[in-house]
Amino acid sequence: MLADGAGMDDSRPEERGRLIDGTATARKIRDRIAIEVAELARDGVVPGLSVILVGDDPASAVYVASKERACVEAGMNGSTIRLPADTTQDTLLGHVRALNDDPAVHGILVQMPLPRQIVPDTVIRAIDPAKDVDGFHPINVGKLLIGEEDGFAPCTPAGVQELLIESGVNTLGKDIVLIGRSNIVGKPMAALLLQDHLGANATVTICHRYTRDLASHTRRADILIAAAGRPKLVTAEMVKPGVVVIDVGINRVPDATAKRGYRLVGDVDFEGVRPIASQITPVPGGVGPMTIAMLLKNTVRAARMQSSRMRSARGAPVEAV
Ligand code: ADP
Repeated sequence: MLADGAGMDDSRPEERGRLIDGTATARKIRDRIAIEVAELARDGVVPGLSVILVGDDPASAVYVASKERACVEAGMNGSTIRLPADTTQDTLLGHVRALNDDPAVHGILVQMPLPRQIVPDTVIRAIDPAKDVDGFHPINVGKLLIGEEDGFAPCTPAGVQELLIESGVNTLGKDIVLIGRSNIVGKPMAALLLQDHLGANATVTICHRYTRDLASHTRRADILIAAAGRPKLVTAEMVKPGVVVIDVGINRVPDATAKRGYRLVGDVDFEGVRPIASQITPVPGGVGPMTIAMLLKNTVRAARMQSSRMRSARGAPVEAV
């Protein structure tokens, strides 16, 4: 809390090095989701997420397994369709259409990356936007940009926003600098932070690989969000005292002392930047756990919206979503 009583919803720039605990925050959100799922079950609705995994990429297999586990733990239905690496695009599209038509499936996620013979955009466009809980369908991207709230925001940037809100970081009027302009993180993150909404209303700068003098931008940031996939891209000289740092990077760096021969690091030189920052996310244990929590949240919303739509089609009163 600030001495002047400005309230706990401020960034506490005088504080240094506080950890933003994504694991604990995600736990809290998942517990709330489990309660919501139990309430829905009383109305006969069990939210269902179907994941399609093509090929045998080990990292993808780990992500998919943890998504399925998280669904089951929250009382939802989680299932995975595993397809061989040589699956044709037509076969994959056939699975997507079957899931679009299945009323027990409320959310569909096709795990990326896909093998070379499949065009990711074609697959994403085949998903029913009402079931696109990853938020990558152009309809949902458009809704996010114009601030229509009945779409789905991609899980990683939505998780970052939720983490800022839950950590008491005020974004209103703040200078937020993003590093990275991908369709998965940077661009949707900017769209979320620009809305006239809680956890938004910021002045957003997006930097990318052609940005001249990255440090001149990052040094102005009240909140710095790094999503470039470059270990130690952000160093101590690049941030101002009191900055809030959100590290979205997940990079494998070789480490002979680690069991697997590598360890995970973010895009930020954590040891160097932490003493200067007011708050900072660790990697792992920062943004990562929030991504899955947001996937569950989107799936529950999808289930609510689809079941109320079906009820209204049958003439029953529609509940607010
Ligand atoms: P992610 O999926 O985490 O968003 P991508 O690999 O798709 O990551 O995108 C990386 C982004 O980071 C790109 O937008 C790229 O322009 C940006 N980027 C990469 N290297 C740098 C750099 N040295 N400085 C600034 N931005 C960078």
